[in-house]
Amino acid sequence: MDKIGVWLTCPMSEYLQDELAKRFILFKSWEIPSIQIQHSHSIRAVVGNGIHGADSTLIESLPCLEIVSSHSSGLDKIDLVKCKERGIRVTSTPDTLTDEVADLAVSLILATLRRICACDRFVRNGLWKQGDFKLTTKVTRKSVGIIGMGRIGSAIAKRMEAFDSPISYYSRSEKPNSGYKYYPNVIALASNCEILVIACSLTKETRHIINREVIDALGPNGFVINIGRGAHIDEPELVSALVEGRLCGAGLDVLEHEPDVPVQLIDLDNVVLSPHVGTCTVETRMAMADLVVANLVAHFSNEPLLTPVL
Ligand code: NAP
Repeated sequence: MDKIGVWLTCPMSEYLQDELAKRFILFKSWEIPSIQIQHSHSIRAVVGNGIHGADSTLIESLPCLEIVSSHSSGLDKIDLVKCKERGIRVTSTPDTLTDEVADLAVSLILATLRRICACDRFVRNGLWKQGDFKLTTKVTRKSVGIIGMGRIGSAIAKRMEAFDSPISYYSRSEKPNSGYKYYPNVIALASNCEILVIACSLTKETRHIINREVIDALGPNGFVINIGRGAHIDEPELVSALVEGRLCGAGLDVLEHEPDVPVQLIDLDNVVLSPHVGTCTVETRMAMADLVVANLVAHFSNEPLLTPVL
């Protein structure tokens, strides 16, 4: 395998880079301005992530590409149609990251409803001596609606059961054995829950799945929690609803134009922001890296892929 070229689309962990470099010739996109002809024929694999994937331009510039091994469970940055046309295999890292992202979703629920970040600023800014922090709202028994009852959505539901929260969901398909109430569309789900959590894949159908109509259905006591992708939300609509008090709060790990943050969100105490860190623990990043490498090794050893998408 030491003659096989692997194109890394952006800097990732030292661990992943070392593990790849032990086995393959590693081409780091940020050190090479563009793929040169002599390299393009030796590159047979791309390793990307949920932000820098494999778009049609990259795929077209690599005539010998056989596999895209993505360091993510989201596939929205990979041109899957082009991969299918060219017979390029695609793998992702599902399951390895489910617990971490679900934990973060619950953290955002708690932090947003109990305004933990605002409490922290209150203490640090020396305001405690001037009086009590204002009352917030309780989490226990609040109804939770989940968009996307997949791996992460199910893990969030399981965790929120511990808060005695009634759980309902909307997905492409009903999960009859889940024990949770299914709504056949997002408006019905939003009308019947207080905390709306986005945990579905980003596709053309789910882009802006949270729009003004959904926000209005959730109402002024409702909360939006997004650990999916920024483009799930029509961001100007979310911002105006938060500013105008048509929505009670939001916890956002992802933004539509990240790392750009809408300026109006910065001063809002009812919003908790995290910088797309759903999978960012040492343990999970290592497990994801191992799976990325294992899929490549399996492919180039003519063994079955561990987590194939295509
Ligand atoms: P998954 O197991 O494949 O689940 C995806 C879910 O999305 C499924 O329930 C699926 O519905 C639903 N879905 C797909 N298209 C839909 C549509 N048109 N309408 C409604 N629901 C739809 O994936 P996962 O591992 O749970 O990950 C989910 C997403 O989380 C990823 O795609 C990624 O974007 C995001 N993510 C974010 C972070 C982060 O750091 N914040 C980290 C990892 C993943 P069915 O069950 O009916 O098929």
